[in-house]
Amino acid sequence: MSPFQQALSQLRQAARHVDIPPKILKQLRKPQRILRKKIAIQKDNGRSETYEAYRVQYNNWRGPYKGGIRFHPAADLDEVKALALWMTIKTAVLDLPLGGGKGGIKVDPKKLSEAEKEKISRVWVRAMKDYIGPKKDVPAPDVYTNARIMQWMNDEYMTITKEKNTGTFTGKPLDGGGSKGRDVATAQGGFYILQDIIKKFVIKKPRVVIQGFGNAGQTMAELCAKAGYAVVGVSDSKGGIYDPSGLDVSQVVKHKADQGSVVGFGSALSVTNKQLLTMDCEILIPAALDNQITGKNANKIQADIILELANGPTSPEADQILFNRGIMVVPDVLANAGGVTVSYYEMVQNAKVQQWSKAEVLNKLKKNILASWDAVFAISGEKKVPLRLAAYIVALQRLAKAAK
Ligand code: NAD
Repeated sequence: MSPFQQALSQLRQAARHVDIPPKILKQLRKPQRILRKKIAIQKDNGRSETYEAYRVQYNNWRGPYKGGIRFHPAADLDEVKALALWMTIKTAVLDLPLGGGKGGIKVDPKKLSEAEKEKISRVWVRAMKDYIGPKKDVPAPDVYTNARIMQWMNDEYMTITKEKNTGTFTGKPLDGGGSKGRDVATAQGGFYILQDIIKKFVIKKPRVVIQGFGNAGQTMAELCAKAGYAVVGVSDSKGGIYDPSGLDVSQVVKHKADQGSVVGFGSALSVTNKQLLTMDCEILIPAALDNQITGKNANKIQADIILELANGPTSPEADQILFNRGIMVVPDVLANAGGVTVSYYEMVQNAKVQQWSKAEVLNKLKKNILASWDAVFAISGEKKVPLRLAAYIVALQRLAKAAK
Protein backbone atom coordinates (compact mmCIF):
# COMPACT_ATOMS: atom_id res chain seq x y z
CA MET A 1 0.00 0.00 0.00
CA SER A 2 1.44 3.39 -0.99
CA PRO A 3 1.77 6.12 1.70
CA PHE A 4 -1.14 8.08 0.17
CA GLN A 5 -3.37 4.99 0.01
CA GLN A 6 -2.39 4.39 3.63
CA ALA A 7 -3.41 7.95 4.58
CA LEU A 8 -6.72 7.59 2.70
CA SER A 9 -7.47 4.29 4.39
CA GLN A 10 -6.96 5.97 7.79
CA LEU A 11 -9.30 8.79 6.72
CA ARG A 12 -11.95 6.31 5.54
CA GLN A 13 -11.90 4.43 8.85
CA ALA A 14 -12.30 7.63 10.86
CA ALA A 15 -15.18 8.84 8.67
CA ARG A 16 -17.27 5.87 9.87
CA HIS A 17 -17.27 7.42 13.35
CA VAL A 18 -17.99 11.03 12.37
CA ASP A 19 -21.15 12.65 11.08
CA ILE A 20 -19.56 14.12 7.95
CA PRO A 21 -21.44 14.87 4.69
CA PRO A 22 -20.19 12.62 1.83
CA LYS A 23 -19.48 15.73 -0.29
CA ILE A 24 -17.07 17.07 2.34
CA LEU A 25 -15.39 13.69 2.74
CA LYS A 26 -14.96 13.45 -1.03
CA GLN A 27 -13.19 16.81 -1.05
CA LEU A 28 -10.88 15.62 1.71
CA ARG A 29 -9.85 12.63 -0.36
CA LYS A 30 -7.83 14.74 -2.78
CA PRO A 31 -5.47 17.71 -2.51
CA GLN A 32 -6.76 21.15 -3.48
CA ARG A 33 -3.64 21.85 -5.56
CA ILE A 34 -0.61 19.90 -6.74
CA LEU A 35 2.46 21.81 -7.88
CA ARG A 36 4.98 19.65 -9.68
CA LYS A 37 7.89 21.40 -11.37
CA LYS A 38 11.23 20.59 -12.93
CA ILE A 39 13.94 22.74 -11.38
CA ALA A 40 17.51 23.04 -12.62
CA ILE A 41 20.74 24.24 -11.03
CA GLN A 42 24.27 24.54 -12.28
CA LYS A 43 26.43 22.12 -10.28
CA ASP A 44 29.91 23.01 -8.99
CA ASN A 45 31.39 21.06 -11.93
CA GLY A 46 29.65 23.44 -14.36
CA ARG A 47 27.04 20.90 -15.54
CA SER A 48 23.33 21.60 -15.30
CA GLU A 49 21.19 19.12 -13.34
CA THR A 50 17.38 18.91 -13.26
CA TYR A 51 15.31 17.74 -10.29
CA GLU A 52 11.63 17.05 -9.56
CA ALA A 53 10.20 19.58 -7.09
CA TYR A 54 6.83 19.33 -5.38
CA ARG A 55 4.39 21.29 -3.29
CA VAL A 56 1.07 19.72 -2.42
CA GLN A 57 -1.49 22.14 -0.98
CA TYR A 58 -3.86 19.66 0.55
CA ASN A 59 -6.48 21.62 2.43
CA ASN A 60 -6.92 25.18 3.73
CA TRP A 61 -10.39 25.18 5.33
CA ARG A 62 -8.88 25.87 8.76
CA GLY A 63 -6.12 28.28 7.64
CA PRO A 64 -3.06 28.66 5.38
CA TYR A 65 -1.43 25.48 4.11
CA LYS A 66 1.36 24.42 6.45
CA GLY A 67 3.99 21.72 6.15
CA GLY A 68 7.65 20.94 5.62
CA ILE A 69 9.87 20.52 2.59
CA ARG A 70 12.06 17.43 2.42
CA PHE A 71 15.15 16.78 0.32
CA HIS A 72 15.31 13.05 -0.27
CA PRO A 73 16.19 10.73 -3.16
CA ALA A 74 12.98 8.75 -2.53
CA ALA A 75 10.68 11.79 -2.41
CA ASP A 76 7.82 11.38 -4.86
CA LEU A 77 4.37 12.80 -5.45
CA ASP A 78 2.55 9.98 -3.70
CA GLU A 79 4.63 10.41 -0.55
CA VAL A 80 4.27 14.21 -0.58
CA LYS A 81 0.47 13.86 -0.98
CA ALA A 82 0.32 11.52 2.02
CA LEU A 83 2.46 13.86 4.12
CA ALA A 84 0.25 16.80 3.11
CA LEU A 85 -2.90 14.95 4.17
CA TRP A 86 -1.25 14.01 7.47
CA MET A 87 -0.43 17.70 8.00
CA THR A 88 -4.11 18.57 7.44
CA ILE A 89 -5.06 16.05 10.12
CA LYS A 90 -2.21 17.14 12.43
CA THR A 91 -3.04 20.85 12.46
CA ALA A 92 -6.69 19.93 13.13
CA VAL A 93 -5.79 17.51 15.99
CA LEU A 94 -3.76 20.33 17.57
CA ASP A 95 -6.61 22.76 16.85
CA LEU A 96 -4.22 25.19 15.14
CA PRO A 97 -5.76 27.72 12.71
CA LEU A 98 -3.83 26.15 9.83
CA GLY A 99 -4.34 23.76 6.95
CA GLY A 100 -2.03 21.10 5.54
CA GLY A 101 0.58 20.98 2.81
CA LYS A 102 3.97 19.42 2.10
CA GLY A 103 6.82 19.86 -0.34
CA GLY A 104 9.91 18.10 -1.48
CA ILE A 105 12.74 17.79 -3.94
CA LYS A 106 13.81 14.41 -5.27
CA VAL A 107 17.52 14.77 -4.56
CA ASP A 108 20.20 13.15 -2.45
CA PRO A 109 21.40 16.10 -0.33
CA LYS A 110 24.44 14.12 0.79
CA LYS A 111 25.71 14.44 -2.80
CA LEU A 112 25.29 18.24 -2.87
CA SER A 113 27.84 20.83 -1.75
CA GLU A 114 26.61 23.70 0.48
CA ALA A 115 26.65 26.00 -2.56
CA GLU A 116 24.52 23.52 -4.54
CA LYS A 117 22.10 23.15 -1.59
CA GLU A 118 21.69 26.91 -1.49
CA LYS A 119 21.04 27.06 -5.24
CA ILE A 120 18.45 24.29 -5.15
CA SER A 121 16.69 25.91 -2.17
CA ARG A 122 16.45 29.26 -3.94
CA VAL A 123 15.30 27.71 -7.22
CA TRP A 124 12.51 25.83 -5.37
CA VAL A 125 11.25 29.18 -4.08
CA ARG A 126 11.35 30.77 -7.53
CA ALA A 127 9.31 27.85 -8.89
CA MET A 128 6.68 28.09 -6.12
CA LYS A 129 6.72 31.83 -5.36
CA ASP A 130 3.20 32.61 -6.58
CA TYR A 131 1.64 29.99 -4.36
CA ILE A 132 3.36 30.62 -1.02
CA GLY A 133 3.15 33.47 1.49
CA PRO A 134 2.16 34.02 5.15
CA LYS A 135 -1.56 33.93 4.35
CA LYS A 136 -1.35 31.29 1.62
CA ASP A 137 1.16 28.57 2.38
CA VAL A 138 3.96 28.52 4.96
CA PRO A 139 6.63 25.83 4.46
CA ALA A 140 9.03 24.55 7.16
CA PRO A 141 11.95 22.11 7.49
CA ASP A 142 11.54 18.34 7.22
CA VAL A 143 13.89 15.44 6.48
CA TYR A 144 17.34 16.72 5.45
CA THR A 145 16.28 20.37 5.46
CA ASN A 146 17.06 22.75 8.32
CA ALA A 147 17.08 26.33 9.63
CA ARG A 148 19.80 27.34 7.22
CA ILE A 149 17.81 26.13 4.23
CA MET A 150 14.73 27.98 5.53
CA GLN A 151 16.85 31.15 5.77
CA TRP A 152 17.98 30.83 2.15
CA MET A 153 14.41 30.20 1.06
CA ASN A 154 13.04 33.09 3.09
CA ASP A 155 15.76 35.37 1.77
CA GLU A 156 14.93 34.38 -1.82
CA TYR A 157 11.24 35.03 -1.21
CA MET A 158 11.97 38.47 0.26
CA THR A 159 14.24 39.30 -2.71
CA ILE A 160 11.53 38.31 -5.21
CA THR A 161 8.67 40.09 -3.42
CA LYS A 162 10.83 43.03 -2.28
CA GLU A 163 9.08 42.76 1.09
CA LYS A 164 10.71 42.56 4.49
CA ASN A 165 8.62 39.61 5.38
CA THR A 166 9.81 36.79 7.57
CA GLY A 167 6.48 34.99 7.90
CA THR A 168 6.56 32.84 4.76
CA PHE A 169 8.82 30.12 6.17
CA THR A 170 9.08 28.76 9.70
CA GLY A 171 11.93 26.89 11.33
CA LYS A 172 14.17 29.87 10.51
CA PRO A 173 17.32 30.59 12.53
CA LEU A 174 16.82 32.73 15.64
CA ASP A 175 18.54 35.76 14.13
CA GLY A 176 16.44 35.39 10.98
CA GLY A 177 12.99 35.57 12.61
CA GLY A 178 12.87 32.05 14.06
CA SER A 179 11.22 31.05 17.32
CA LYS A 180 13.08 29.97 20.40
CA GLY A 181 12.40 26.30 21.09
CA ARG A 182 11.63 25.38 17.44
CA ASP A 183 14.78 23.26 17.18
CA VAL A 184 13.65 20.94 19.99
CA ALA A 185 9.88 21.31 19.54
CA THR A 186 9.08 18.05 17.72
CA ALA A 187 10.83 15.85 20.25
CA GLN A 188 9.74 18.01 23.18
CA GLY A 189 6.06 17.74 22.21
CA GLY A 190 6.32 13.94 21.96
CA PHE A 191 8.24 13.86 25.22
CA TYR A 192 5.42 15.65 27.12
CA ILE A 193 3.04 12.89 25.98
CA LEU A 194 5.58 10.19 26.82
CA GLN A 195 6.00 11.56 30.35
CA ASP A 196 2.23 11.48 30.83
CA ILE A 197 2.03 7.87 29.58
CA ILE A 198 4.87 6.77 31.86
CA LYS A 199 3.01 8.37 34.78
CA LYS A 200 -0.45 7.04 33.78
CA PHE A 201 0.72 3.47 33.29
CA VAL A 202 3.31 3.55 36.09
CA ILE A 203 6.23 2.37 33.97
CA LYS A 204 8.97 2.09 36.57
CA LYS A 205 12.22 2.00 34.60
CA PRO A 206 11.45 2.79 30.99
CA ARG A 207 13.91 1.50 28.43
CA VAL A 208 13.76 3.44 25.17
CA VAL A 209 14.81 2.53 21.62
CA ILE A 210 14.94 5.33 19.02
CA GLN A 211 15.26 4.84 15.25
CA GLY A 212 16.82 7.91 13.59
CA PHE A 213 19.30 10.27 15.23
CA GLY A 214 18.52 13.59 13.54
CA ASN A 215 16.62 16.61 14.78
CA ALA A 216 13.73 14.57 16.18
CA GLY A 217 15.53 11.38 17.28
CA GLN A 218 18.65 12.85 18.83
CA THR A 219 16.72 15.50 20.75
CA MET A 220 14.35 12.82 22.05
CA ALA A 221 17.32 10.69 23.16
CA GLU A 222 18.73 13.67 25.05
CA LEU A 223 15.39 14.44 26.73
CA CYS A 224 14.92 10.80 27.75
CA ALA A 225 18.45 10.58 29.15
CA LYS A 226 17.94 13.80 31.09
CA ALA A 227 14.74 12.40 32.60
CA GLY A 228 16.63 9.29 33.73
CA TYR A 229 15.10 6.84 31.23
CA ALA A 230 17.52 4.25 29.86
CA VAL A 231 18.10 4.85 26.14
CA VAL A 232 19.12 1.32 25.17
CA GLY A 233 19.17 1.59 21.38
CA VAL A 234 19.54 4.24 18.67
CA SER A 235 20.26 4.26 14.94
CA ASP A 236 20.84 6.39 11.88
CA SER A 237 20.91 5.66 8.15
CA LYS A 238 24.17 3.69 8.55
CA GLY A 239 22.86 1.29 11.22
CA GLY A 240 22.08 0.95 14.91
CA ILE A 241 23.61 0.31 18.34
CA TYR A 242 22.08 -1.41 21.37
CA ASP A 243 23.22 -1.67 24.98
CA PRO A 244 20.76 -3.25 27.45
CA SER A 245 22.32 -1.35 30.33
CA GLY A 246 21.71 2.02 28.64
CA LEU A 247 23.81 4.18 26.32
CA ASP A 248 25.61 7.32 27.44
CA VAL A 249 23.61 9.61 25.14
CA SER A 250 25.91 12.63 25.38
CA GLN A 251 28.84 10.42 24.33
CA VAL A 252 26.80 8.95 21.44
CA VAL A 253 26.06 12.53 20.29
CA LYS A 254 29.77 13.27 20.39
CA HIS A 255 30.62 10.04 18.55
CA LYS A 256 28.08 10.87 15.83
CA ALA A 257 29.50 14.40 15.48
CA ASP A 258 33.04 13.02 15.16
CA GLN A 259 32.38 9.90 13.06
CA GLY A 260 29.26 10.89 11.12
CA SER A 261 27.25 7.98 12.55
CA VAL A 262 26.24 6.34 15.82
CA VAL A 263 27.65 3.07 14.44
CA GLY A 264 30.83 1.86 16.13
CA PHE A 265 30.04 3.51 19.46
CA GLY A 266 32.01 2.02 22.39
CA SER A 267 31.17 -1.57 23.30
CA ALA A 268 27.51 -1.33 22.21
CA LEU A 269 26.13 -4.18 20.13
CA SER A 270 25.90 -3.36 16.40
CA VAL A 271 22.41 -3.97 14.99
CA THR A 272 20.72 -3.24 11.70
CA ASN A 273 17.84 -0.75 11.54
CA LYS A 274 15.52 -3.71 11.03
CA GLN A 275 16.81 -5.49 14.15
CA LEU A 276 16.71 -2.33 16.23
CA LEU A 277 12.92 -2.09 15.93
CA THR A 278 12.41 -5.50 17.50
CA MET A 279 14.91 -5.18 20.37
CA ASP A 280 13.77 -5.54 23.99
CA CYS A 281 12.43 -2.24 25.42
CA GLU A 282 9.29 -0.65 26.85
CA ILE A 283 9.19 2.38 24.51
CA LEU A 284 9.96 2.33 20.79
CA ILE A 285 10.31 5.68 19.01
CA PRO A 286 10.55 5.62 15.22
CA ALA A 287 12.11 8.97 14.27
CA ALA A 288 13.41 8.40 10.74
CA LEU A 289 11.36 7.38 7.72
CA ASP A 290 7.91 6.05 6.87
CA ASN A 291 6.80 2.42 6.57
CA GLN A 292 9.24 0.92 9.07
CA ILE A 293 6.79 -1.17 11.15
CA THR A 294 4.82 -3.37 8.77
CA GLY A 295 2.92 -6.66 8.63
CA LYS A 296 6.33 -8.34 8.40
CA ASN A 297 7.77 -7.20 11.75
CA ALA A 298 4.79 -6.03 13.85
CA ASN A 299 4.54 -9.44 15.51
CA LYS A 300 8.16 -9.22 16.62
CA ILE A 301 7.96 -5.80 18.29
CA GLN A 302 8.79 -6.14 21.99
CA ALA A 303 7.90 -2.61 23.11
CA ASP A 304 4.65 -1.88 25.01
CA ILE A 305 4.37 1.64 23.62
CA ILE A 306 5.28 3.09 20.23
CA LEU A 307 5.56 6.87 19.98
CA GLU A 308 5.72 7.97 16.35
CA LEU A 309 8.05 10.93 15.91
CA ALA A 310 8.50 10.03 12.25
CA ASN A 311 5.64 10.54 9.82
CA GLY A 312 3.91 7.34 8.73
CA PRO A 313 6.29 4.79 10.27
CA THR A 314 3.53 2.19 10.87
CA SER A 315 1.53 0.54 8.07
CA PRO A 316 -2.24 -0.05 8.53
CA GLU A 317 -1.62 -3.82 8.60
CA ALA A 318 0.92 -3.36 11.40
CA ASP A 319 -1.49 -1.05 13.23
CA GLN A 320 -4.07 -3.84 13.39
CA ILE A 321 -1.53 -6.41 14.59
CA LEU A 322 -0.21 -4.03 17.27
CA PHE A 323 -3.76 -3.20 18.44
CA ASN A 324 -4.58 -6.92 18.72
CA ARG A 325 -1.39 -7.42 20.72
CA GLY A 326 -2.30 -4.58 23.11
CA ILE A 327 0.64 -2.38 22.05
CA MET A 328 -0.23 1.30 22.31
CA VAL A 329 0.70 3.43 19.28
CA VAL A 330 0.75 7.20 19.83
CA PRO A 331 0.21 8.36 16.24
CA ASP A 332 2.45 10.71 14.28
CA VAL A 333 -0.34 13.26 13.79
CA LEU A 334 -0.22 13.86 17.54
CA ALA A 335 3.19 12.61 18.75
CA ASN A 336 5.28 14.73 16.36
CA ALA A 337 2.96 17.77 16.25
CA GLY A 338 5.24 19.81 18.52
CA GLY A 339 7.14 21.02 15.45
CA VAL A 340 4.15 22.47 13.64
CA THR A 341 2.77 23.89 16.88
CA VAL A 342 5.92 25.93 17.50
CA SER A 343 5.98 26.80 13.79
CA TYR A 344 2.55 28.32 14.36
CA TYR A 345 3.96 30.26 17.34
CA GLU A 346 6.74 31.46 15.02
CA MET A 347 4.12 32.78 12.57
CA VAL A 348 2.33 34.59 15.41
CA GLN A 349 5.60 36.10 16.70
CA ASN A 350 6.54 37.24 13.17
CA ALA A 351 3.12 38.81 12.60
CA LYS A 352 3.23 40.62 15.96
CA VAL A 353 6.95 41.44 15.70
CA GLN A 354 7.57 39.70 19.01
CA GLN A 355 10.17 37.31 20.39
CA TRP A 356 8.93 34.96 23.12
CA SER A 357 11.28 33.30 25.61
CA LYS A 358 12.01 29.57 25.26
CA ALA A 359 10.21 28.93 28.57
CA GLU A 360 7.10 30.73 27.28
CA VAL A 361 7.17 28.75 24.02
CA LEU A 362 7.59 25.39 25.77
CA ASN A 363 4.90 26.19 28.35
CA LYS A 364 2.43 26.97 25.59
CA LEU A 365 3.48 23.84 23.70
CA LYS A 366 3.02 21.65 26.77
CA LYS A 367 -0.47 23.00 27.38
CA ASN A 368 -1.45 22.74 23.72
CA ILE A 369 -0.18 19.22 23.04
CA LEU A 370 -1.38 17.75 26.35
CA ALA A 371 -4.89 19.16 25.73
CA SER A 372 -4.91 17.39 22.34
CA TRP A 373 -3.50 14.20 23.88
CA ASP A 374 -6.25 14.25 26.55
CA ALA A 375 -8.95 14.73 23.88
CA VAL A 376 -7.57 11.86 21.75
CA PHE A 377 -7.05 9.55 24.75
CA ALA A 378 -10.64 10.21 25.90
CA ILE A 379 -12.17 9.43 22.46
CA SER A 380 -10.03 6.30 22.23
CA GLY A 381 -11.43 5.08 25.58
CA GLU A 382 -15.01 6.12 24.79
CA LYS A 383 -15.16 4.45 21.37
CA LYS A 384 -12.72 1.64 22.20
CA VAL A 385 -10.60 2.46 19.16
CA PRO A 386 -6.82 2.81 18.69
CA LEU A 387 -5.29 6.21 19.35
CA ARG A 388 -4.65 6.85 15.64
CA LEU A 389 -8.30 6.40 14.79
CA ALA A 390 -9.25 8.57 17.77
CA ALA A 391 -6.91 11.34 16.55
CA TYR A 392 -8.45 11.18 13.05
CA ILE A 393 -11.94 11.33 14.57
CA VAL A 394 -11.02 14.49 16.53
CA ALA A 395 -9.49 16.03 13.38
CA LEU A 396 -12.38 15.09 11.10
CA GLN A 397 -14.92 16.58 13.51
CA ARG A 398 -12.99 19.88 13.39
CA LEU A 399 -12.52 19.78 9.61
CA ALA A 400 -16.21 19.05 9.03
CA LYS A 401 -17.09 22.04 11.22
CA ALA A 402 -14.67 24.29 9.30
CA ALA A 403 -16.08 23.11 5.96
CA LYS A 404 -19.56 24.19 7.01
P1 NAD B 1 16.69 14.60 10.11
O1 NAD B 1 17.07 14.72 8.70
O2 NAD B 1 17.20 15.59 11.09
O3 NAD B 1 17.11 13.16 10.66
C1 NAD B 1 16.72 11.97 10.03
C2 NAD B 1 17.45 10.82 10.72
O4 NAD B 1 17.01 9.59 10.17
C3 NAD B 1 18.98 10.85 10.53
O5 NAD B 1 19.60 10.46 11.72
C4 NAD B 1 19.20 9.80 9.45
O6 NAD B 1 20.50 9.23 9.54
C5 NAD B 1 18.13 8.80 9.83
N1 NAD B 1 17.78 7.89 8.75
C6 NAD B 1 17.70 8.18 7.42
N2 NAD B 1 17.40 7.05 6.75
C7 NAD B 1 17.29 6.08 7.67
C8 NAD B 1 17.00 4.69 7.60
N3 NAD B 1 16.76 4.09 6.44
N4 NAD B 1 16.95 3.99 8.77
C9 NAD B 1 17.19 4.61 9.95
N5 NAD B 1 17.49 5.89 10.07
C10 NAD B 1 17.53 6.61 8.94
O7 NAD B 1 15.10 14.52 10.11
P2 NAD B 1 14.12 14.82 11.32
O8 NAD B 1 13.70 16.23 11.21
O9 NAD B 1 14.68 14.29 12.58
O10 NAD B 1 12.86 13.95 10.86
C11 NAD B 1 12.74 12.56 11.21
C12 NAD B 1 11.29 12.15 11.06
O11 NAD B 1 10.51 12.99 11.91
C13 NAD B 1 10.70 12.31 9.66
O12 NAD B 1 9.75 11.29 9.43
C14 NAD B 1 10.01 13.64 9.71
O13 NAD B 1 8.95 13.74 8.76
C15 NAD B 1 9.48 13.59 11.14
N6 NAD B 1 9.17 14.91 11.67
C16 NAD B 1 10.14 15.85 11.90
C17 NAD B 1 9.79 17.09 12.38
C18 NAD B 1 10.81 18.15 12.69
O14 NAD B 1 10.42 19.23 13.17
N7 NAD B 1 12.08 17.90 12.51
C19 NAD B 1 8.46 17.38 12.62
C20 NAD B 1 7.49 16.41 12.41
C21 NAD B 1 7.87 15.17 11.92
